[in-house]
Amino acid sequence: MPLAAQAQDKPKWTLVIHGGAGIIQRDRMTPEREAATQAGLEAALKAGSDVLANGGSAMDAVEAAIRVLEDDPSFNAGRGAVFTWDGRNELDASIMDGSNRAAGAVAGLTTVRHPISAARAVMTDSPHVLLSGEGAEQFARGAELEIVDPSWFATPERLRQLEEFKSRRADWFDVDLKYGTVGAVALDSQGHVAAGTSTGGLTGKRWGRIGDSPIIGAGTYADDRGCAISATGAGEFFIREGVAHEICARVRFTGETLKQAADIVLGETEELGGKGGVIVTGPSGEMAWSFTTPGMYRGRVSSDTAPEVEFYEDE
Ligand code: ASP
Repeated sequence: MPLAAQAQDKPKWTLVIHGGAGIIQRDRMTPEREAATQAGLEAALKAGSDVLANGGSAMDAVEAAIRVLEDDPSFNAGRGAVFTWDGRNELDASIMDGSNRAAGAVAGLTTVRHPISAARAVMTDSPHVLLSGEGAEQFARGAELEIVDPSWFATPERLRQLEEFKSRRADWFDVDLKYGTVGAVALDSQGHVAAGTSTGGLTGKRWGRIGDSPIIGAGTYADDRGCAISATGAGEFFIREGVAHEICARVRFTGETLKQAADIVLGETEELGGKGGVIVTGPSGEMAWSFTTPGMYRGRVSSDTAPEVEFYEDE
């Protein structure tokens, strides 16, 4: 398509979300689970698109969409987060503003209802990018974020998964037991992009393990000169590849489309041994996703297109 035509067709705003990648196949799904996941993703798309349609910022849209998913027990973020080996829910999140590359992140939270809002507060109210553990809790209390009892996050299904993990001594990256991380990327009508990711991490994680989700450049990255990315998958490999930044850099420097860059970087990550997925959007209005697992919970909407939600590989 000629460039001029592309520019005219460009949507004013875009929003892409994910609810984790993993073994998501029709024969393993119950109708109840399918309906609950679909409803959760639709509600998040609505929360984010309401912000964008009213002229709000990509940062506000990303935060609004992720807050909905953090409250939804179908996903491994906030309420419904996976359990650590010691039977706790330890939450990680990050957010990045593509207009100025400001970023904030938190790791190992246990009482903050919306880790994505804590990550944003780190960005706006502290000189730091990443806070962890008790210090991050203290900061969140000071920032007047909503604090809940740790039991708020716990669900019977995630406890069952921890027990299964322990009894079968499953592999750390067994995709059956672990994924469900959430993320959002958006382009607003001012032409700015943003990205955010929130997770409980891996079932059975120990020793204060932190994955890619709160690591800027690995699980999350946003730059108006390239694109905005949120990832989900086997975090250690995503950190080693620097997945989110690598996709952004390829888009900036090689002229690849968002989809081409995402496919290449996830391919390289798979060669290292890590599977997962990403969502991407950019100032061009392109929306893309890519995954190397059998499925990824995902959805998208734009000023020009109706909301769509997909789960499986063949959609
Ligand atoms: N990437 C997350 C982590 O490693 C897990 C996930 O995406 O489900 O903590």
